[in-house]
Amino acid sequence: MSAKYIFVTGGVVSSLGKGLAAASMGCLLESRGLKVNLMKFDPYLNVDPGTMSPFQHGEVFVTDDGAETDLDLGHYERFTHAKLSRDNNWTTGRIYEQIIAKERRGDYLGKTVQVIPHVTNEIKAAMKKVAQDVDVAIVEVGGTVGDIESLPFMEAIRQMRQELGRDHTLFMHVTLVPFIAAAQELKTKPTQHSVKELLSIGIQPDILLCRTDRFLAKEIKSKIALFCNVEEEAVITAKDVASIYEVPLVFSHEGVDSLVLRYLRLEAKDRDLKDWEEIVHRVYNPKAEVTIGIVGKYVEYEDSYKSLKEALVHGALAHNLKLNLNWIEAEGLETGDRTYEEQLADYDGLLVPGGFGKRGIEGMLIAIRYARENKVPYFGICLGMQTACIEFARNVCGLTDANSSEFDPATPHRVIYKLRELRGVEELGGTMRLGAWTCKIEPGTLAHKIYGKLEVSERHRHRYEFNREYEETLTAGGLRISGSTPDGTYVEMVELPDHPHFIGCQFHPEFKSKPLEPHPLFRTFVGAAYEHGLKRRADKTASEVEMFHRPEKVGKR
Ligand code: GLN
Repeated sequence: MSAKYIFVTGGVVSSLGKGLAAASMGCLLESRGLKVNLMKFDPYLNVDPGTMSPFQHGEVFVTDDGAETDLDLGHYERFTHAKLSRDNNWTTGRIYEQIIAKERRGDYLGKTVQVIPHVTNEIKAAMKKVAQDVDVAIVEVGGTVGDIESLPFMEAIRQMRQELGRDHTLFMHVTLVPFIAAAQELKTKPTQHSVKELLSIGIQPDILLCRTDRFLAKEIKSKIALFCNVEEEAVITAKDVASIYEVPLVFSHEGVDSLVLRYLRLEAKDRDLKDWEEIVHRVYNPKAEVTIGIVGKYVEYEDSYKSLKEALVHGALAHNLKLNLNWIEAEGLETGDRTYEEQLADYDGLLVPGGFGKRGIEGMLIAIRYARENKVPYFGICLGMQTACIEFARNVCGLTDANSSEFDPATPHRVIYKLRELRGVEELGGTMRLGAWTCKIEPGTLAHKIYGKLEVSERHRHRYEFNREYEETLTAGGLRISGSTPDGTYVEMVELPDHPHFIGCQFHPEFKSKPLEPHPLFRTFVGAAYEHGLKRRADKTASEVEMFHRPEKVGKR
């Protein structure tokens, strides 16, 4: 089977949602029974995003095979059934790393090593690798047309068209059609310029996905078609939507999948998007609301926790709830104008997500103590499990200075310490415990009830671990270790049996949650939070009624 390729490029500005567009295309093609794979090229020089700050790059998405990748791969996995690995995300840095290794080995037999053909060949080989055994490979080129960095990738996709022909390659360009308020008009010029830029490097787009805040009228579409040399039908309105899960539906209304099939001469069955329609129906018709607080350090930048936010949305959708998500600045709980009780009072559930470094830790501990003592559902992920153990050690087991050696190397009680296998490793790139590991669940625990099985596989990204020397003290205090690696080396899950829902995991379940398959840990956490919210509000009403019936108290106010 020889795969067909869809190349997705972007123009005018960044953040137009190329990744979501690629993911939605994948979803649409799957809905027609085709098998797809997706990949992304990132034109920067870092070998992977693992060492980049979340402020720079957003979330680092981790695959089963332990690759630290771009967050768009998260969209690909959430929208399709493609199984992604390190083969699905390449940076310029990693392409060059390979080439330089080959050159040092002498593989180029004395030739001069050049961008064309050596770099472009390497890029093409990477594309062909993910296109094995699928009908369509969707290849997203990061960055914006005109960037110096992306030129080798653009040249490589140009060569792919040359090599494989029109029936096997399709260029999809995501562009912007802004509405200018002063003129009360949609403007096509940025799109025209962007297409011109593509043409100057030898690429004529076949389909234009026009990002806009309103539907494009026929006249606008024909104008863009004329100036950009595409069929009018190929000018697609990619209108802003309130939920990303609506994008495949918007694309399907525009008929973009039929167009792709025609251009690529592909046979496929009629599309079946029933499941997605149901999800979108739920998004817009929730039965009630649930309010979750995420206590963290990077909270001002939502992209740092993309998968987490989506996994919570999936958890809420599973119960037909609308999710209200509040990002609580951990440091603000220590120093804010309002007390932490005031700041935390109105949450149905609290979550401490993954994170690195010392900043905000004491605030997270405050939130965890509050959740533990007030029986507020708590979910700790990675750092959130580690801090839950520290809080328990300090405030329940009396180990006042308990800490992680990450935050206080001199602590007398290293409840969390550096992974034993990483002792002596100082290099930062790719040196964490990464990717999928099996976790054995203890029978009869909350974890067991949640998963409904005793063995699961989850993805990791951490450098520190629970110190088993403290296991006896903490379990004697009432903490339960509910999941470990099968050989018993690492603690993977902890919980509190005398709390309605208090659970922590060393792995990142958010990476495996999908709208159509909400992760059980998120589904049950959001469910427990909703129940808690109902109870919290009922108790509040009851106490108000009581106040009302006690005039002497009311009088005193
Ligand atoms: N900083 C902690 C560690 O390295 C937690 C990492 C995380 O939350 N991903 O172990």
